[in-house]
Amino acid sequence: MKYEIKSVLSQGLVMGNLVNVSSINQDDNFISEEYETKRLVKAIDKTVCEIKSLKEKNPDLEEYLVAEELIASDPVLKENAIKLINEKKSACVALREVMNGYMDSLLEATSEYMRERAQDVSDILNRLISNLHDRETTVDDNSCIVSVDYLYPSFLITHRQSIIGVIAKKGGFTSHAAIMCRSFDIPLVLVDEETKGNYAIIDARKGYVIIDPSDAEIKKYHKELELKNKYDKLAIPHSDYLFLANVSNNLDLDRALNYNFDGIGLYRTEMIFMNTDRPYTFDEQYQIYSEAVNKAKDKFITFRTFDCGDDKQISYLRSDKKGIDNYINNPVIFETQLRAMMKANTYDNMRIMFPMIESCAEFEYLRDWTIKVAKRNNFNLPKIGMMLETKEALVNIESFIKADFISIGTNDLTKELYGIDRDNSIEDIKSHLDDLFYLLKPVVDFCNKYDKCLSVCGELASIPDIAKKFYELGIKNLSVSPSLIGLLNLSYEEYNKVSK
Ligand code: PEP
Ligand code: MG
Repeated sequence: MKYEIKSVLSQGLVMGNLVNVSSINQDDNFISEEYETKRLVKAIDKTVCEIKSLKEKNPDLEEYLVAEELIASDPVLKENAIKLINEKKSACVALREVMNGYMDSLLEATSEYMRERAQDVSDILNRLISNLHDRETTVDDNSCIVSVDYLYPSFLITHRQSIIGVIAKKGGFTSHAAIMCRSFDIPLVLVDEETKGNYAIIDARKGYVIIDPSDAEIKKYHKELELKNKYDKLAIPHSDYLFLANVSNNLDLDRALNYNFDGIGLYRTEMIFMNTDRPYTFDEQYQIYSEAVNKAKDKFITFRTFDCGDDKQISYLRSDKKGIDNYINNPVIFETQLRAMMKANTYDNMRIMFPMIESCAEFEYLRDWTIKVAKRNNFNLPKIGMMLETKEALVNIESFIKADFISIGTNDLTKELYGIDRDNSIEDIKSHLDDLFYLLKPVVDFCNKYDKCLSVCGELASIPDIAKKFYELGIKNLSVSPSLIGLLNLSYEEYNKVSK
């Protein structure tokens, strides 16, 4: 039986056994204060233990899991739930009431970052309630597709090794679970109907899932999968175009190198900063950057200096706004990062770029600062470039003559130009594409005239129809998440088919 996919949150093609995982909704009856309190404490302890053990097994998800651990072990959560139990409410009802209260106040926050935390609370509530009912959601099949109402990140992390695909009823493109699925290379699709059965195929590119397919369909997809596994895990030949990767840590970098990307177009260093509750020392940072540089060797690696504000907050920095103020207000942290990066520049394969640049004065100020640090320490000076992701920089592009390279950040740029938020669907951008490409044409001309390397590192680069338009505009270098190499291959192939 074929079902239409309503929305693709993470691309892919997979087939395997189908496991139905229904969420637990029942609120049970109150037994006694003593009994409910005991259950509550046991469930909280078990939840905290589970999160701790997940943290050990998944160092790449530490940032996310630390936040979960803090919420689950908050003594106020326990106290407030016990107060409700004393009013003769069951542990389940008490937890729901307290955590729904947290979620409501987070959802009212103006900051996107705080609103996102509401998803974390909902994730923990789900885990606590499962533990309250002593109910393990088992996914014991080695590689299976799961069908869920809503995909909770903790469920995904726990069963990361077994899940090869997810069919859900609800979810958003920028939800934590969707971002994780894209980074783990697990397709996640939304389907309205009930999808019950024993076996499933998710074909996100064609836009449908098949439940209990026929033998002929299975045979056909076996062949397609063989091809896809070859094609989706390795860059296809692409002449003088650069296939670049966006990474957040050295594990992502390993993947990008295994998939044969030409270099790293964006290393989001703030993700490293977000893993701790204190600034990383010079030595700690140097270790990370030099390991990255040594791994990349003959391929270039573009470190973006920490980019915080809005949706990305670093616990020990106060940042109201992304951009240069973060460096001016935290000069020691900025200089420590610059020194640690440049000391690691032993292969001359490093590029450093600054985010959210608005004017040439800002860019030159940061560039001069970087040059001074390099000279003072006798470091090899890397290429110094900028992200183009503000309106002001876009209209004054001709002034950035000193930038060695430019990388277009379409996520922030489209937000600035058209008010397209990260939570909006891709469809919302489509009506603005003509205007966006019209505005980017002078950037392409400027880079061609002065022989500057130009790339796109925002999410639009990984949408084949739009990536093709970047190629048509003359932007040859696209930077995408490593797991999206297949989409980059596809965009390149489609572009070449038409242009031949
Ligand atoms: C962008 O804004 O397009 C970008 C790549 O940067 P980030 O998503 O990290 O803000
Ligand atoms: Mg940005």
